[in-house]
Amino acid sequence: MTARGPSSYAGLAAVAIAATASAGVLRADEATRLDIRWSPIIDLHFHARVAAASQKAPPAELAPLMDAVRKVNDALGRDLRSWGLIEGALYGCSTAADVRTAFSDFPERFTLRSPRGDSSDAGKEVELRRLALEFADALGQVEPTMTGIREDDERVVAQARATVAERLGPKEAACLKYMIEHLGPEDPKIVISVYLVADMPWPGAVTQLRPARAGGICFVAVRDVEPLQLIETILHESTHALDVVWKEDATLDHLRSKLQAAGPSVDQRDLHDVPHTLMFVHAGETVRRNIDPNHQHYGDVSGYYARLSRATQAVRGPWVDYLDGKASREEALDRIVRSLAPAGGSP
Ligand SMILES: [Zn+2]
Repeated sequence: MTARGPSSYAGLAAVAIAATASAGVLRADEATRLDIRWSPIIDLHFHARVAAASQKAPPAELAPLMDAVRKVNDALGRDLRSWGLIEGALYGCSTAADVRTAFSDFPERFTLRSPRGDSSDAGKEVELRRLALEFADALGQVEPTMTGIREDDERVVAQARATVAERLGPKEAACLKYMIEHLGPEDPKIVISVYLVADMPWPGAVTQLRPARAGGICFVAVRDVEPLQLIETILHESTHALDVVWKEDATLDHLRSKLQAAGPSVDQRDLHDVPHTLMFVHAGETVRRNIDPNHQHYGDVSGYYARLSRATQAVRGPWVDYLDGKASREEALDRIVRSLAPAGGSP
């Protein structure tokens, strides 16, 4: 499911990177909240991506869509971030016709660039609008024949949605407050859109940037995901949506600045992994401290912490000390950065 390791709103760069909360802004007396959604065409989109990546032959109904998925994979790349240009525009779409309308606003051409400067595709120009509209047309071609798959997926998502409503619903405000208090400068008062889908490619969740500076859009796969793991994943992706709208004085950007100022002990990988690991730790602790003290972090259950042991060792202890009131936020961030220096290096 959701390692979300590569999960990123940064996408391929930017139709619009400097996002603001231009969509879904709430009144001054309201607090940021979640808007958990279902869309048959968004579910079909991710279903098709999973089928195209599978070793098994796709269901016959999906065959016309497989070429279109492969064309986008070839043009943009096949990982979660690569599809950000396409998926960022899916907000509000319920049908293939909606998708076509959304994609028709795309620029005719787009030059790819990597958020981390490490993509071999950086600098490649793609005919974005034509590519996206061909994909939308392929969605439209299979849409009428997908009844069986749609009904099955809708049932799976409806069950997960009921579980989320039951377990997270009464605690949602407390969880978001706990995240915003510790990670943000202030409540941005936005509605965070989270589309639940039955399946999506590994790691099973992603937040993409919406066009026109309209914030993030979260997608989370639910099939066979244990309820508290699903809730932690939704909160983790919500952190990405908050990160998009917060300014430089938020904790995550403050940490990024400290990492950048730290010199050669911090490399490009740390610049991504360390703030991202802090998101994992904080989402896990948010569930433990607001819903169930026996909750095990997704990072522990999935092996993410083991895989990213350098970042996890740097982040987890100081951040939990901060949450426990044993250190200030500033002290915790400084300890995180210091711990990345080689042993015996400067204090
Ligand atoms: Zn993430």
